[in-house]
Order: sequence, then structure tokens, then C-alpha cells
Amino acid sequence: MSARTAGSGSLRISDRTLAELRALERSTTDVRLGAHLLRGTPTNESRTEPMLVRVSRRAQEHGRALAADPASAAPGPSVVREHDDGLLSPSPAIARVHPRLGRIDLFTDVIVHCEAVIEALGWRGLFPEGCIREAALLHERAHELIVHGRGRELRRATAVPALRLGRHVRWAHIAGADELAAHAFAQARLGLPRSPILAALAADGALRGSVPTIRPSLEEE
Ligand SMILES: [Zn+2]
Repeated sequence: MSARTAGSGSLRISDRTLAELRALERSTTDVRLGAHLLRGTPTNESRTEPMLVRVSRRAQEHGRALAADPASAAPGPSVVREHDDGLLSPSPAIARVHPRLGRIDLFTDVIVHCEAVIEALGWRGLFPEGCIREAALLHERAHELIVHGRGRELRRATAVPALRLGRHVRWAHIAGADELAAHAFAQARLGLPRSPILAALAADGALRGSVPTIRPSLEEE
């Protein structure tokens, strides 16, 4: 679960940044936020917005379906290791999973930062206290499931035609779809009204003092 945050220190968010983040929450759906994440993932830069919106929707649907599957309810095999220096990293994250090493690294200082930003925004109705840590662990659990056997169905659900030659179609897999599925998995398990993608974008925006411009969602999204 990446917050793509930078810097450290006590939380100070300008009124303007708070207003921009609240506007972002009101004007975008989770599908559109997911398309924004896909857009920032290497190899997706030139893909069309409608395609990324479509893949975002399918990836998040897939994450919710995975969360509803009783087979995915068992706790994962990984050991959780806590760290308090996540904000010092050039590319900070809330957590990182190493499925093949059987380890999840959890960055407690980044979690504290996210919780403080949610509090400052008055978003407790969207993200109840303590949910960021739980969401991070569930997110990494989804990555474990995707790496260990559930990845093929996700790739199939989110593939897009890359090349058509007569009746033959070559399919391409969209980088970052697993990330959106993992966020949706955590959201569904916790019953959150908004995706943790929104919390991560807010945490990032608060540290940078700038909020990304994301196209408002269309009504049908
Ligand atoms: Zn992830």
C-alpha cells in the first residue's frame, strides 16, 4: 500500500490543501481515483482515459469478489515487522509485502501521519480511527493471494486487447491492476464507504502541499 509520501515532521496542512482534498473527495469516484493511479504507473502513460476507467472498475470489482470468497478469509502466512522510519524513505509506503520471504513491513509513522490527515479533514465517517493499519494489512494479504495463485483470474478480468489481426486478438495486462484490486479487497473487508486510495492520496497531498488534478467522475461511474 503506497502513500507515495515524502518528507517528515509534524503535520501542518494549509487550508487550501484541505479544501482541495475535500473537493477531490466530492468530485471523484473510487473508479476515477483508480484510473489516476493506473495513469501514474509506468507503461500506462499513453493509454486512453476510458480504457483506464474500465480497467479500474474491473480491477476493483475483482478485489471485492476476492474479499467475498471464503477461501480468502484465512490469515496470511506472513510475519508482520513494524518500522518507524517510513517517512524517511524517498518513496514512503504504509506497508510492503514480500510474499516470497513471508514478511510484511508495516511503517507505523506513515500510519500515524495518515490518521492525522484523516482527522484534520474531518473524514472519520469515511475512515474510522485505526482502519489504516487494518486496511494496510488486508491490502498486503490481497497481494499475497494474487501472487500465490489468484493472479491469473485478475489478469484475465482486467486484460485489454493489444492487437487485433483478423479474428485473432492479443491481450495485454495493465500494470497496477493488482494494486487497485488490493485496495478494493481491504475496502470491502472493512466495509469502508471510500477506497483507501483516497486516504493514501490525501496523506501524500498533505505532505507535498499539493493535490493532484483528477478529472471529475461522470455520473454513470
Ligand atoms: Zn499494494
